[in-house]
Amino acid sequence: MASLETDVLVIGGGATGAGVAWDASLRGFDVILVDRADLAEGTSGRFHGLLHSGGRYVVKDPVAAEECVAENVVLRRIVADCIEDTGGLFVVTPDDDPAYGDAFMEGCRKTNLPAEEIGVDAALRMEPRLNPGIKRAFTVPDGSIDVWKTVWSLARGAQQHGARILTYHRVIDLHVEGDAVTGARLRNERTGEELDVNAGFTLNASGAWAAQIVKMAGIEGVGVIPGKGIMIAMNHRLVNTVINRCTLPADGDILVPIRTVSVIGTTDERAADPDDIPPTQEEVDAMLDDGERLVPGFREARALRVWAGVRPLFQDEKAGAAEVDTRDVSRTHAVVDHVARDGIGRLLTMSGGKLTTLRLMAQDLVDAMCRQLGEDRPCTTEEAIPPGNEDGELYSIGSRLRAREKTMQDEQLICECELIGRSKLEETMRRRETTILDDIRRSLRLGMGPCQGGFCIYRATGIEHGLDGIDAATASDSLRDFLQERWKGMWPILYGDQLRQARLDDWIFQGLLDVEHLP
Ligand SMILES: Cc1cc2nc3c(=O)[nH]c(=O)nc-3n(C[C@H](O)[C@H](O)[C@H](O)COP(=O)(O)OP(=O)(O)OC[C@H]3O[C@@H](n4cnc5c(N)ncnc54)[C@H](O)[C@@H]3O)c2cc1C
Repeated sequence: MASLETDVLVIGGGATGAGVAWDASLRGFDVILVDRADLAEGTSGRFHGLLHSGGRYVVKDPVAAEECVAENVVLRRIVADCIEDTGGLFVVTPDDDPAYGDAFMEGCRKTNLPAEEIGVDAALRMEPRLNPGIKRAFTVPDGSIDVWKTVWSLARGAQQHGARILTYHRVIDLHVEGDAVTGARLRNERTGEELDVNAGFTLNASGAWAAQIVKMAGIEGVGVIPGKGIMIAMNHRLVNTVINRCTLPADGDILVPIRTVSVIGTTDERAADPDDIPPTQEEVDAMLDDGERLVPGFREARALRVWAGVRPLFQDEKAGAAEVDTRDVSRTHAVVDHVARDGIGRLLTMSGGKLTTLRLMAQDLVDAMCRQLGEDRPCTTEEAIPPGNEDGELYSIGSRLRAREKTMQDEQLICECELIGRSKLEETMRRRETTILDDIRRSLRLGMGPCQGGFCIYRATGIEHGLDGIDAATASDSLRDFLQERWKGMWPILYGDQLRQARLDDWIFQGLLDVEHLP
């Protein structure tokens, strides 16, 4: 069996794992990052899109708020191209208590969050679709963040420092020698081949799956509770500013404009299995009602798709009692030290946290590893810039259109919704070395607009087929898999225009292409 050697094995290629790989490789460690699927296909690729200002936590969880306040500033500096400076509003709707606004402002003051109360008329001028019945409004520095760009930027940065990134490699066992973890057995999910990784240290950044991973080392009962939340993408930007209900965190209280859509979310419900989280009809209905509260007429807008993600909520009495890290018992994130908790060395688990605090989480985890190794290797991720963000310019919504206008006369447009030209698509297909169209979707947002792939994905499949080494059967399989994945997110929310779109897509793929029987 093939085997690889490394200083550090990072399990989980979400935002946390990518941040950890970037951090550890910058500190000079040799790193292998593995994920059972594509990067950011777990919770990170199913989140709400909000770069928190911290406002959501100022009253209930000031430590989390302070972390967001600080990391919001750092991320704007280091991954500027992934962030849109939408700004945010906290609004007191007719159903909320106006007095909460005072507690909110007091919390902002204590956590150094720059917030300001503005008049309701000013808020309505900023966002004309907002509920005209709002009673108070406060501005905060919220933003939206493109997770796929962020994660790939960090991963590519790690690669430039020698890290190896193994997507579609599932950890199927951890190797334990004596009282230490010495690596893992992986299975290549595309070929079925197995290989061993011998690692000096293993960092478990597998989010809601963290307890499943450490169980492979015989460690039981790590308290990671999967907390399910659903979100719905509407087909355009109903608002251009992040809109939060000014109340204690509740369901459906944030509307985030991200790229070409706006996303309402979310819920929070305990899930038995992080891989079994289908959105229910009741959840969808409740979320649309919540949208109405912020933007009247919300239900009449076109809903594109619904999806769910799972928060890795950390509730571990054993680790808390051991006091291995003060964060272990906080509501923010927790480094689980398996020496202190379970008597197993060379293994640490990260749990909890938010996408906004990914850099800090990575720093805390790699710092803890350095302490165990007795090595003094300072963290540099507050300043280091991963690839694609070098010019320090924040993303702006018109940038794809501006780029497109320059090449309009001489380049074929493949995805009209997301303005993806043929050369960018071909370049990405070659760079990603994948035949899976859903991987290309994550890299480029291919097929993520109103037609959900109806007009672009057969073109993309043809282009994929024309590229070196991809036969017709592989291309057809890829097309069918893509359509199946899109369908999963569409069917729970099919009404109005999107239902008509789904029928049209069906005619194209079943009626014209007979997609079931393509070679
Ligand atoms: C509904 C919802 C909305 C949210 N909205 C926001 C928001 O707006 N802003 C914000 O800052 N935060 C938000 N969060 C929190 C944020 O999304 C998460 O904290 C963050 O994405 C977690 O990242 P992660 O890398 O720790 O986990 P993940 O992204 O889940 O990564 C874990 C990875 O481990 C991999 N894995 C699992 N098992 C194995 C195995 N056996 N072998 C190999 N790999 C494996 C998975 O495939 C996965 O990719 C939200 C969370 C939820 C659930």
